[in-house]
Amino acid sequence: MLVSRQNAVTQWRKLLQFKDLGLDNRLLKTVKHFDFKQATEIQQQAIPVAIAGKDLLASSKTGSGKTLAFVLPMLHKSLKSKAFSAKDPRGVILAPTRELAKQVYGELRTMLSGLSYDATLIVGGENFNDQVKALRRNPKFIVATPGRLADHLEHRSLFLDGLETLILDEADRMLDLGFAPELLRIHRAAKHRRRQTLMFSATLDHADVNDIALKMLNAPKRIAIGVANAEHKDITQKFYLCDHLDHKEALLERVLDEANYKQLIIFTATRVDTERLTEKLNAAKLKAVALSGNLNQNQRNTIMSQFERGVFKILVTTDVASRGLDIANVTHVINFDMPKHTEEYVHRVGRTGRAGNKGDAISLVGPKDWDSFKRVEAYLQQDLSFSEFADLKGKFKGIKPRKPSVVKGKAQSSKKPKAQGHKQDKKPAKRDKSFYQNVAVGDDVFVPRKKKTPPSEPQE
Ligand code: ADP
Ligand code: MG
Repeated sequence: MLVSRQNAVTQWRKLLQFKDLGLDNRLLKTVKHFDFKQATEIQQQAIPVAIAGKDLLASSKTGSGKTLAFVLPMLHKSLKSKAFSAKDPRGVILAPTRELAKQVYGELRTMLSGLSYDATLIVGGENFNDQVKALRRNPKFIVATPGRLADHLEHRSLFLDGLETLILDEADRMLDLGFAPELLRIHRAAKHRRRQTLMFSATLDHADVNDIALKMLNAPKRIAIGVANAEHKDITQKFYLCDHLDHKEALLERVLDEANYKQLIIFTATRVDTERLTEKLNAAKLKAVALSGNLNQNQRNTIMSQFERGVFKILVTTDVASRGLDIANVTHVINFDMPKHTEEYVHRVGRTGRAGNKGDAISLVGPKDWDSFKRVEAYLQQDLSFSEFADLKGKFKGIKPRKPSVVKGKAQSSKKPKAQGHKQDKKPAKRDKSFYQNVAVGDDVFVPRKKKTPPSEPQE
């Protein structure tokens, strides 16, 4: 059973089950197979609002069942109402990475069993013409990465005039990856005035999410279960200081030795590191495999399916796998390097501790990681302490802020290190404060914000 943050507003809803949410019986029949005790908080709150036809900007912690919270109302609506168009898809779900799109597609397919609808997956790296053929069969539902879907609009192999439901899973990550133009392209193509749009993520508290929400959503209801940076009670976090790469590797070896893991994901900063580290792990007879964005799609698919089946115990990857992936046996996450984007910390560690299970997250913090670590600490608003192995202690104790008058003591305890060319504490300043207030359910008036700098290159 999922254990969620308690609060006065939502407590009364906690016993709701799927059957209480107004869903079509055909969907309830399939949901029953999952044997869930009750709907999660986000499901309890988002499903009725989405069924009522409102646009939605919804956030809840990693592993809290957001996928069903958007898949179910989308299907419900299609079962209950007449299509806007005979040919066009009725629902489109967008996700930032191919792996996540594939997983969501799997979940959608499960929910479609017993129904007469078909669906297709449209992601980059797959054969374009095969996708054109699939689209000619007029699938009712599409799960896609935004880049490739926009290509099909350009190519006129797809029309979205009759689209009823547009869903953006991990919307903030799509923006981070520079997909804003593609999202807007899709938004303009899906121009039916009664189109409903739903945005979901564990971290939606970005100014640029507000910008895009202003453009794409119509008087949305905001549902925030907890806050993005709240402590995830099912995930134990540990941090180790390290001096240099060799020290990091020694610590990793020890952590792997001592951790009683079923499956484990290691995140590194770069693609090259995934391969280097995987070779080392395999040389040490640990069954590891590297997944990164430079592999071709067949390789990526094979690696993911092998990892999911437990052929490999360790997946070494970059932020390509930080979002959304739901693999039941992942008991541990290791940040070999701290993430560049602060929010990715929450998503990376959220690959474990899913659906009420316990998980461990271990981060190795060297001099190069220090800025990222401090940003994560500021984002989480927790005083993070360091663990150590007596025989593997290093010299590095953190970098003191440069302003001499600020602190004399431990660098760790400094609240605001001087920026000095890097962007300390930049993210929290950008955040929309309304998301800090535990739960916000209700119509939200968006305040237009200043234009953001152009995004980096897409790399789904
Ligand atoms: P999120 O998108 O919030 O990270 P997912 O939708 O991937 O989470 O769901 C995480 C896990 O929780 C999945 O394995 C899913 O099957 C499971 N799950 C979904 N709904 C429930 C529920 N009501 N009770 C228990 N587990 C659930
Ligand atoms: Mg998800």
